[in-house]
Amino acid sequence: MPGGRAETEVTLTVSFGYEPSGELRRLLEDFRDMVNFCVGKALEHNVTSYYALRKLVYGEWKSRWNYSTHFCHSACRVAASMLKGFRRLKRRGLAKGDRPVAEKLFMRLDPELVRYQGDAVRISVRPGEFLYVRLRYGDYQRRFIEEWRAGKLKVGEITINETRVYVPFRKAVAQVEPRGWVAVDVNETNVTAVSADLRVLRLETNLREIRSAYFEKRRRIQELSKLKPKTSERLMARYSKRERNRVRDLLHKLSRRLVEFAKQHGFGIVLEDLKHMRARIRYGRRLNRRLHSLPFRRLQFYVEYKARLAGLPVVYVDPKHSSTLCPVCGGRLAPNGRRVSRCGRCGYESDRDVAACLNLLRRAPGCGEPPLPPKATEASWAEVERVVIKC
Ligand SMILES: [Zn+2]
Repeated sequence: MPGGRAETEVTLTVSFGYEPSGELRRLLEDFRDMVNFCVGKALEHNVTSYYALRKLVYGEWKSRWNYSTHFCHSACRVAASMLKGFRRLKRRGLAKGDRPVAEKLFMRLDPELVRYQGDAVRISVRPGEFLYVRLRYGDYQRRFIEEWRAGKLKVGEITINETRVYVPFRKAVAQVEPRGWVAVDVNETNVTAVSADLRVLRLETNLREIRSAYFEKRRRIQELSKLKPKTSERLMARYSKRERNRVRDLLHKLSRRLVEFAKQHGFGIVLEDLKHMRARIRYGRRLNRRLHSLPFRRLQFYVEYKARLAGLPVVYVDPKHSSTLCPVCGGRLAPNGRRVSRCGRCGYESDRDVAACLNLLRRAPGCGEPPLPPKATEASWAEVERVVIKC
């Protein structure tokens, strides 16, 4: 479509707690039995494809279970994918037993079977017969619920297990044609984003303080464990959960700010490809320290999905030596004062984290050779925004 903006569909899976009921539990148990029944039939008749299995089992399924036909289709799909996984394990000699078995309670529901009605999810069990599941949710999930209820969001196949409901929301998003790129460098406690025209966003966090405060708490609980093992176990679980939640909130705030920055200037986002990094032992200490501080991969994951929702492209580049080489001539950077590095070959001076970002920017496809500032020390930045993000 010339001149028009391309749209892509973005899927975001959101999980909810729910109010359990005897009815839903029975449905979950029946679904598990259906899956095991389908697996048995597939093995008995040597059927591997979903369609063939569906055709094979339908008659007997119908006489055993009085549910909407969609449940048969879902059970067949789950059984077919379990069998596929099992065959793969078997080829590698890792399969346990002679057939896969569904043990845990869960089910997948065709979107046709599910509506959001009133204040609950409505599942069609049989024509004209419904089961209602009330979801529990916070502010983050509320937005999705409201749009779903208003019919603005489509949903994919919904998964329900004993404690949670997983809803993949599908949304059409207009793609933004980026006018440039912004690269993101993550350190132990701060995140730096730099564009080719040297707009800088610096996010500082209190992650280290949080981590050490919880470390201290856990140490004290550990001491208690000899006297009161039960209490200590309970406290440990509670504090671990709180720490996880705080770190997750922090990652959401950081990623939201990064994506806002990119969106505001119309930039695509350049991230470090960790596959390359893990393969390289030479990264050694710096990488290990980073992986044990800010949950790096998870932050990238949040950035990527928020960017996709905003229609911004994301690319991953090889980060090899991005923090030690000169972005101008490729010479070695040596520390030259606090946070500043200087190139031993051409004398280029740059803030350490900004230099890493400039290197990443130059590796982004379609970024070409962005013009480099004569100096990338703080005095020469086009714009700098400093934000302290606490959780
Ligand atoms: Zn240089």
